[in-house]
Amino acid sequence: MSSTAATATRPGIPVGISACLLGRAVRHDGSHRRNPFLIDVLGEHFDYVPVCPEVEVGMGTPRPSLRLVQIDGAPAPRLVASRSGQDWSDAMRTWAAARVERLAERGLRGFVLKSRSPSCGMARVKIYSPAGQPVDHGSGLFAAALAARLPHLPIEEDGRLNDARLRENFVLRVFIYDEWLRLRAAADPAALVRFHTRHKVLLMAQDPARTRALGRLVAGAGAAADLDALLDEYVSSMMAALGRPASPRRHVNAMQHLSGVVKGRLDPAEKQELAALIAEYRQGRVPVEVPLTLLRHHLRRSGHAWALDQSYLDPYPRNLGLRSRV
Ligand code: SF4
Repeated sequence: MSSTAATATRPGIPVGISACLLGRAVRHDGSHRRNPFLIDVLGEHFDYVPVCPEVEVGMGTPRPSLRLVQIDGAPAPRLVASRSGQDWSDAMRTWAAARVERLAERGLRGFVLKSRSPSCGMARVKIYSPAGQPVDHGSGLFAAALAARLPHLPIEEDGRLNDARLRENFVLRVFIYDEWLRLRAAADPAALVRFHTRHKVLLMAQDPARTRALGRLVAGAGAAADLDALLDEYVSSMMAALGRPASPRRHVNAMQHLSGVVKGRLDPAEKQELAALIAEYRQGRVPVEVPLTLLRHHLRRSGHAWALDQSYLDPYPRNLGLRSRV
């Protein structure tokens, strides 16, 4: 699929976001954490749904800063005002349960959370003792409620998105999950076969063992007594397979697999050029986009329908430029 076609078929993917990352002045001190990449680059493709748990639960802005505190014997950390000790845990958990229910109905395809926040932080949020000593790390209360209610939802933090591989992996998951949810509404075994066929090389580059298991699931879809259960199992395993960035070795395997489709049509110099670029990528001298560009060119010339339809070639709009950095 060309980047133009991908853009045209995927307008305004709904993605949740911590409101301060959009530039809204909702932090405890009235500031924001506007993130230019999220707004100016991904904002062209995402239709953001802003959420500020602390404002929406009724704390207002400005407000005292909060922290997570582990009290001896308590099953989970408490959300308390750092100085006064006012406890917002029950109010926040009640509000978050209702809010994530509404977000589930909204059909989100992803969520970008503000890191280190005791409400929004996805992981590694400091947890303190009642005496004020850092004793552990965990998730913010809203982030925990979100992940529990929507376990397949791609979720990332702004800080981790500075890592090129994690950024690429998050965007990839959002686009694939978007396509999955549109397919899921049809609950059609033939559509599942087409979906799996189109994403097969991409999934193999992520997790070959899970991909083979997914293939066995798909093979049984036509005769499945409970297609809904099978689809749930498929998405659970697929999102787990996509959960980590593909390693360079797996990218090399995927490109060599697709190269095999056109090998017979290339002259010796063309074969040598493609193999050399893949080797340069494996050695870390060029980004994956370099051999991929040549591979796409040869595949287009070959007209090989199965290979050209592989999402691995363009899992999201190419103008995002994410594979030029991994
Ligand atoms: S981190 Fe979350 S709770 Fe804090 S200001 Fe941003 S959106 Fe609001």
